[in-house]
Amino acid sequence: MSDSRTATCPICRAGSPLRALEQEGAPANCVQLWPTAEQARAVPRGTLRIECCTSCGHLWNSAFDASRVIYTPEYDASLHFSPRFQRYVEELVERLVAELPLRDRRLLEIGCGKGEFLDLLCRRGGCRGVGFDTSFSGAIPADAAWTVERRAFSAAEPGLTADLVASRQVLEHVEDPLAFVLALRATLEQSALGALFLELPNGEWILRDLGIWDVIYEHVSIFTPLSLRALLQRADLDIRWLESAFEGQYLRALALRGERERTAPSPSALAEQLALVERFGATYRAKVEEWGRRLEALARAGRRVALWGAGAKGTTFLSLVKPLEALRHVIDIHPRKVGRHVPLTGHRVDPPEALRDSGVDVILVMNPAYAAEIGASARELGLQAELLVV
Ligand SMILES: [Zn+2]
Repeated sequence: MSDSRTATCPICRAGSPLRALEQEGAPANCVQLWPTAEQARAVPRGTLRIECCTSCGHLWNSAFDASRVIYTPEYDASLHFSPRFQRYVEELVERLVAELPLRDRRLLEIGCGKGEFLDLLCRRGGCRGVGFDTSFSGAIPADAAWTVERRAFSAAEPGLTADLVASRQVLEHVEDPLAFVLALRATLEQSALGALFLELPNGEWILRDLGIWDVIYEHVSIFTPLSLRALLQRADLDIRWLESAFEGQYLRALALRGERERTAPSPSALAEQLALVERFGATYRAKVEEWGRRLEALARAGRRVALWGAGAKGTTFLSLVKPLEALRHVIDIHPRKVGRHVPLTGHRVDPPEALRDSGVDVILVMNPAYAAEIGASARELGLQAELLVV
């Protein structure tokens, strides 16, 4: 709990960051859905105090309190029910297999979820793997070349070695990302390959395209291309590539163990990012208010609205935007989410089939990447609905 004057950047340790946003009362668990509306409404809240380092461009929540965030087997961020997302993962695995000599090598994945990515990479790459995930609750196929440790990865793992370490959508949850990446790097010391793959939300997309529904309490860090580069260089990793993916929403990087000269971020790129940061608080609030006005107008016009996508974006939208009178349904295709309740507001999640004969004529699409998929599902259900990408 510190203000801007005492907050120091978790990547480069510089002080005096720029305040990007202060938002109180954010749900501290955005992804976890609850069996009852009462439980959902009682989730802890926290403050989003997003600072931006003026030296390396890193953004982080200086009001983050890890004790408010609880990950259990209920925590389910799996997106693998979407064909669009499955294609993305398949293409990623094809690329890693094409670029890295993985046959008979040892793979480590930190935060492996249900093991879908680990399984695919082991099969296609002909390698063996170990996944770490405290919330792992799936089944491991009998012929799998991988196992799972149902616990948190710690820096002191005696004898844990790997040729490729992968970690997807984890680094943004970690309070000390530099220490975390150094611990990952340590597992590569014995390897001739020594590769690290990271994938995480793209802070540049949040700032530039106003992906404000992705600013959630669980994400203590928001990385931009500048700050991910700074982190990898500080960990003495040689960056093979660093790019945006999934319509700009993700950042991902492949780096190899090695020594690399540290370079300062490009002054023009940093200045451009800091200009976005300075405007972010005002544009964030303007976007929330604009959606409030749109929903109010839809309610006045007697329109029936469904929100499609009960993930972090959906939870954040529901927690911020008022009024919600026009909203009739919250929809998700994930069978494990159906019948459960959204944190803070307590909305029940229905399956797409609930929209048949519902009279819903407006669908709020929480992620632009799924708009085509959602449009096709709506037509199959016989809906003549207008799709609004949020
Ligand atoms: Zn910094």
